[in-house]
Amino acid sequence: MTQSMTIELTTQKKQKPSAQQLGFGIHYTDHMFMLNYSEGQGWHSPRIVPYQPISLDPAAKVFHYGQTIFEGLKAYKTEDGRTLLFRPGKNFERMNRSNERLSVPELDVELALEGLKQLVKVDEDWIPTEPGTSLYIRPFVFATEPLLGVAPSKEYLFMIIMSPVGAYYSEGVKPVKIYVEDEYVRAVKGGVGEAKTAGNYAAGLKAQEGAASKGYTQVLWLDGVQRKYIEEVGSMNVFFKINGKVLTPALNGSILSGVTRDSMIHLLQSWGYEVEQRAISIEEIYEADKAGTLEEAFGTGTAAVISPIGELLWQEQKLVINGGETGELSAKLYDTLTGIQKGSLEDSFGWTVEV
Ligand SMILES: *Cc1c(COP(=O)(O)O)cnc(C)c1O
Repeated sequence: MTQSMTIELTTQKKQKPSAQQLGFGIHYTDHMFMLNYSEGQGWHSPRIVPYQPISLDPAAKVFHYGQTIFEGLKAYKTEDGRTLLFRPGKNFERMNRSNERLSVPELDVELALEGLKQLVKVDEDWIPTEPGTSLYIRPFVFATEPLLGVAPSKEYLFMIIMSPVGAYYSEGVKPVKIYVEDEYVRAVKGGVGEAKTAGNYAAGLKAQEGAASKGYTQVLWLDGVQRKYIEEVGSMNVFFKINGKVLTPALNGSILSGVTRDSMIHLLQSWGYEVEQRAISIEEIYEADKAGTLEEAFGTGTAAVISPIGELLWQEQKLVINGGETGELSAKLYDTLTGIQKGSLEDSFGWTVEV
């Protein structure tokens, strides 16, 4: 690293929550990482400081024009006390692809990774060890220049905050009910669906609320032009097992390229499965069900790793998948990936990075 990082340790360590109190993104560790960008100077002043509120000018561009990107990854404690990150380089590479789309300057990946490792080290005692728990890491970047002209900001702040999170499935992996959304859309080709940017989430809340009011956990997004092809499920990528083959929508420009998606594809191929990445219509899924060949469906993402889909509702037609139970392949993928992440299974892909 060419720039030296300063570390200011807190004098008031917070009390850590118990495993039962964890939840998701409720509690934050004692420290955070900050890095500034100024035009002409580039990224500068990497520092670890006590976790605290930040002060911004009300005219900061992020509030008005939404130039902001986030990432999400996890750190785990192994049985023998080592700390592992899962494919962290992938997250910063993706952040740079998102940055590029939103005219945010390219992040120095080495500097960000070094900052992340140092921060995890400083707050290592915050990584929970109970089964299913982990330390969720949230890197994000936003425009801070106080100027209302519509143009890319000349100043940014990159930060990393961390939150100990509880077991996503407290009673074992459980399938969810999904509402197939055919009114609202998440993204269109040429838009920002490929970027992990806040606006995509704000735009999805309305549909999510609608699904929840009908008793569904999440929505299945269809393409923004024809409402015909499957894109994602909530904020997860989606997979289907049909007649022994595994299908997932191709990265077509409006779908987020998940690190978990990529990992699942590698695992499946290493087990000899044929994985087709292509356009999948919602009709195809319903027809496969009628033909008796739809075997499993699941979403993938960092938070849940795998979320099996037990039921779909599309235009009043209810479809129950695998009797509403977690499929064999979903369970095997979940056990294998979480095993690699926690260091209890051999990492033959070289995915984990020790801190
Ligand atoms: C973050 C995200 C995913 C999952 O990506 P992972 O890298 O696997 O966590 C999928 N879809 C959307 C829209 C996302 O924001």
